[in-house]
Amino acid sequence: MNEPLVASMREFGTTIFAEMTALAVRTGSINLGQGFPDTDGPDAMLEHAVAAIRAGGNQYPPGPGIPELRQAVAEHRKQHYGLLYDPDGEILVTVGATEAIAASLLALCDTGDEVILFEPYYDSYSAVVALSGAVRRPVPLRPVAGRFTFDPDELRAAVGPRTRAIVVNTPHNPTGTVFTRDELSQIAALCQEHDLIAISDEVYEHLTFDGVEHVPIATLPGMRERTVMISSAGKTFSVTGWKIGWLCAPARLVTAVQTVKQFLTYTAGGPWQVAVAHALREELGWVAGLRDSLAAKRDRLMTGLSAAGFGVYRPAGTYFVQTDIRPLGFADGGELARRLPELAGVVAVPTQVFYDRPELGRHFLRFAFCKRDEIIDEAVARLAHLGRPGKRTDNVV
Ligand SMILES: *Cc1c(COP(=O)(O)O)cnc(C)c1O
Repeated sequence: MNEPLVASMREFGTTIFAEMTALAVRTGSINLGQGFPDTDGPDAMLEHAVAAIRAGGNQYPPGPGIPELRQAVAEHRKQHYGLLYDPDGEILVTVGATEAIAASLLALCDTGDEVILFEPYYDSYSAVVALSGAVRRPVPLRPVAGRFTFDPDELRAAVGPRTRAIVVNTPHNPTGTVFTRDELSQIAALCQEHDLIAISDEVYEHLTFDGVEHVPIATLPGMRERTVMISSAGKTFSVTGWKIGWLCAPARLVTAVQTVKQFLTYTAGGPWQVAVAHALREELGWVAGLRDSLAAKRDRLMTGLSAAGFGVYRPAGTYFVQTDIRPLGFADGGELARRLPELAGVVAVPTQVFYDRPELGRHFLRFAFCKRDEIIDEAVARLAHLGRPGKRTDNVV
C-alpha cells in the first residue's frame, strides 16, 4: 500500500512530547520534558466537576459552550483586561487551546495564504497551518541580553501580499518571553497596515513572574476587532487533562471559527465547563498562589541548571526554562536529549524541534519546572555531574 498519510502531514511525525514521555517511562527518568503539573487544581473546582457529573450534566453541552462559562469568561476579560466581549456570539468554548488554535487557523486561512509564526513555536501551529493548506513564514526569536525577542525588520520583511495572520504567543512557550507593550505595538502596527488577523495564544496569561505584566494584544488600539484571543483552563488551573479552552473575538470571526469547530468536535466536557465557570469566579486567588509557587520553582531549577553548567535564560513566564548546552561541551540538543536519560536519568525537550530552521535552535534544551520541589531537586542532583570531564562525549564543540 502507498503511504497512507496525506502529503501535507508527512513532515510531522509523532510529537516530541509523546516521544520524550515514552523515553522517560522506559528509562525510569525524571520527566522535565512535557509541561504538565504534577499537582492538582483547586479542590473546590474538582468538587464542582464531580457534582456536575452526579447532577446529570452528562449530555452534549451547547455548541458555543455552557452559558455560565461564557458569562464567567466575559466577566473575567472585563475585570482583568478591560475588554468587553458578548458571551452570546463573541466567546467560544473549545477543546483546550489546541482546538481553538486549530479551528481558528482552519477557518481563517485559505490555501496559499501565509501565516507568520515566531520560531521556536508551539508544535501544533505548524501542523495546523499545513492542514489548512496555508504556508508558514517563520520569524526567529533570538536571545538579546538574556531574553528572546524578534528583530522588527525581520518581522516586517516576513509580511507580504499573501499574509493573512500572525500567531502571537505571549507568555511564550518555549522561551519564557513575555512580549512587552512595545513589541506588541510593532506587531499590531503590521496587523493594521496589512489587514492581518492576530491569533493570540495566551494560555500562560496568569503565569508571569517578577511583576512582569501580561499584555493581551487585543487591548492595543485597533486590535480587538482583528484578534482571536485564546486561553486554557488546563494551564490556568493545572488541569491539562480536562482540555477546556476558549477564544474571544469579534462575532464575525467567532462565527467563522465556530463553523469549523462544530465539525471537529461540536462540543465537549460539560461537567468540566461547569467547574471552570466556578474557578474563573472563585479561584483566582488560588491561581495567584500557583504563580508564586511557579516563580520559586523556576528559581530552584535555574539555580540547579546553572550550577550543573548549563547556560540558563531567565523566563518571565510559562512553565519552562530555556538552556544553552554549549558551556557543557555539547553541541546538539537533539542528540543530548536522547542521551540524557542514560547520562543523568532526566528527560528534557530539544528546542530545535520547535523551529522551521532547526539549526537556529540546535544548542537549546527546554526544561519544565511545573513539578514538585522534590522532583526538581532530584533532577538537579542527577544533572550536577553532567559537565564532569569523564562524562564528555565526542559531541564536544
Ligand atoms: C499547553 C499549550 C497549549 C495547549 O493548551 P490546551 O488547553 O492543553 O489545549 C497551547 N499553546 C501553548 C503555547 C501551550 O503551551
